[in-house]
Amino acid sequence: MSRPSKQEEMVGFPVPDYRFDQKNEMFKRAFWDEQFETQRTRFYNEVGFQDKPGWGKVDFSIRNAAWNVEWSFGMGNSRSNSGLYAWEGIHPKAERFVRTGGRVEGTPSEMSNVVKKAALRLGADLVGICRVHPNWVYSHEYNLITQEHYPLELPKGCDNAVVMAIEMDYHTLRSSSMVLQGFATGHAYSKMAFLANMVAAFIRGLGYRAVPCGNDTALSIPLAMAAGLGEWSRMGLLVTKKLGPRVRLCKVFTDLPLAHDHFEPFGVVEFCKTCKTCASNCPSQAISHGEMTTEGPNISSHSGALKWYINAEKCYTYWGTRRTDCTQCIRVCPFNKMPGKIHDLSRFLIKRAPLFNRLLVKLDEVLGYQKTLPVSRFWGKG
Ligand code: SF4
Ligand code: SF4
Repeated sequence: MSRPSKQEEMVGFPVPDYRFDQKNEMFKRAFWDEQFETQRTRFYNEVGFQDKPGWGKVDFSIRNAAWNVEWSFGMGNSRSNSGLYAWEGIHPKAERFVRTGGRVEGTPSEMSNVVKKAALRLGADLVGICRVHPNWVYSHEYNLITQEHYPLELPKGCDNAVVMAIEMDYHTLRSSSMVLQGFATGHAYSKMAFLANMVAAFIRGLGYRAVPCGNDTALSIPLAMAAGLGEWSRMGLLVTKKLGPRVRLCKVFTDLPLAHDHFEPFGVVEFCKTCKTCASNCPSQAISHGEMTTEGPNISSHSGALKWYINAEKCYTYWGTRRTDCTQCIRVCPFNKMPGKIHDLSRFLIKRAPLFNRLLVKLDEVLGYQKTLPVSRFWGKG
């Protein structure tokens, strides 16, 4: 590995020395790598109704309804720059307001405050701003609609990212693993498309370029870390201070000059070294019990940074087998809690007194946080 660049030192955590090709991301790979054809067919084409709570037609129906905005108008999981995630465009009703009066000017700090407030008003649960490291942008896109593979670049000057997190429903995720957890995921994905589109429209309204993205175009987790939203973890997901891993991420790239937030670790990596709860509960053994490493297990890893890599091949194979997604790792993570004084105290201890980490992991188990909540709660019968 090469020495950290100046920009990487400023970022505060390691950055691989190459750009990841999105073709190798597991959900894209499933469409061209023959070894995952069976799992892909099961996952996307088969109907997995089961005669048990959380697996009925009504459960699938609300899951699909929650995804509907993303599937119909977002499509950020299929390709970039389309639908609600289009990189250009101002609605004709707003055009004259954008053309009149020139650009809105202010110091980067003033403009950051305005953009963050707008993002929160428009539906973000967390928001931060960072400078984009070039190696977080995919080298290529794999377009699921056209099956094309082509190089990807952000528009010139769009070096700032407004990174936003959307909360996923706590109770639904605690009742994982049934199909209903897909409601929480899908609902957040639909909100991502809705939110990124409106934040981009706001920035264009100020007279600047804005590129809204879901999972497409660039890696959301390092962007979110650089924007001060949280830390990576053993299970590979972002863990935020306020909402733990119970978030989905979207971002808007812009040439609007903005002040940046910075990486703010709060003890997650140290806690994960002791915890391993996700690894013990992962049904596909995709999460490592071992030490951090710089090499992921296969081509679906963006290797080169010291961290834990999940085995996306194993995870995806499990999803294919059950014909729906899984959020078991989020469900059992001790950071997956509703906000409250006791949990604030736990987070305080995790940050300042890691000696208590082992005790906190044990307490989490003893207090029953790893147990599944009954699905009847969702439909109001419990
Ligand atoms: S989603 Fe499920 S299978 Fe995949 S890593 Fe998490 S617990 Fe394991
Ligand atoms: S379950 Fe434990 S080890 Fe896994 S991500 Fe959460 S805190 Fe880290």
